[in-house]
Amino acid sequence: MTDLQIIVPVFNEQEVVDLFYEKMKQVFQTCDADWTILFVDDGSTDGTVKHIEFLQHKDKRVGYLTLSRNFGKEYALTAGLDYADAEVVVVIDVDLQDPPELIPEMLDLWHEGYDVVYATRNEREGETYMKKATASWFYRIINSMSKISIPKDTGDYRLMDMKAVRALRKLRESNRFMKGLFAWVGYKQKAIYFDRKKRVAGSTKWNFRKLFSFAVDGITSFSYMPLRFATWIGVSVALFAFLYGCFIIVKTLIFGNDLPGYPSLMVVILFLGGIQLMALGVIGEYLGRLFEENKRRPLYLIDKFEPPEK
Ligand code: UDP
Ligand code: MG
Repeated sequence: MTDLQIIVPVFNEQEVVDLFYEKMKQVFQTCDADWTILFVDDGSTDGTVKHIEFLQHKDKRVGYLTLSRNFGKEYALTAGLDYADAEVVVVIDVDLQDPPELIPEMLDLWHEGYDVVYATRNEREGETYMKKATASWFYRIINSMSKISIPKDTGDYRLMDMKAVRALRKLRESNRFMKGLFAWVGYKQKAIYFDRKKRVAGSTKWNFRKLFSFAVDGITSFSYMPLRFATWIGVSVALFAFLYGCFIIVKTLIFGNDLPGYPSLMVVILFLGGIQLMALGVIGEYLGRLFEENKRRPLYLIDKFEPPEK
């Protein structure tokens, strides 16, 4: 039988851990696999860990890992993948927005020889128009800018062969844009499609500010395009300024200086100042990330590890 481990990051999810566990039990009744669950508690401050401990008491197939504080989902996932121990690993959210019913289908594809099977959503139920539109722009921008292609509307929900997990473990960058890292490792990948549901309970931990910084992280860790773009703008503005300078010299030589051009001067100064600041900002984004990487801090710290029993 296939040895399968489910990795679930959880952060303040006491309302859903039990539901999640029940659902898993139900799904695996029809699926031919030896399954275990590894919860990764990302510094929850509510009763999440208590609920998990209780589950572990009842069922030894449940194990958990607690981090020393809230590091964020990407780091919790990284910890889970580092401690995963099975032939096949499934990464899933605890809120049941990713339908666990897909796991048997994913497993079938794994048996057919695919190393990574990821779930792509057709419809984003219960999300605002704004979130859908920004998500779609984001994928368009990042894919036109970076060399590896990141599948659209695909979250972290996926099944991975241990081979791919081992490859992921080698990527230790501290700026962790998981969607990009998953795509970067390659191997035989396959998409399956589903309709994304609303959360069963609890609330989302994302807000616009977090999503924006997530997008900037994604772009800067997979593309130098913004830097190159700043260079292009600089070059074209300089070229334009040179041509305009020639024009003014010729004009002054022929017609003389009629009126000191205060407004045009102001416009040019402000325009150039704005562009310079923007370019500096872009450089700053990369410099900041370089600084972060250079510190080589551990990606997360473990408080407690209770492995599941097979
Ligand atoms: N999560 C986490 N750490 C965080 C935020 C979220 O481990 O700092 C977990 C959360 O418990 C859930 C998953 O990541 O299992 C997805 O979070 P959420 O549902 O808030 O994101 P969304 O589905 O809205 O993208
Ligand atoms: Mg969710």
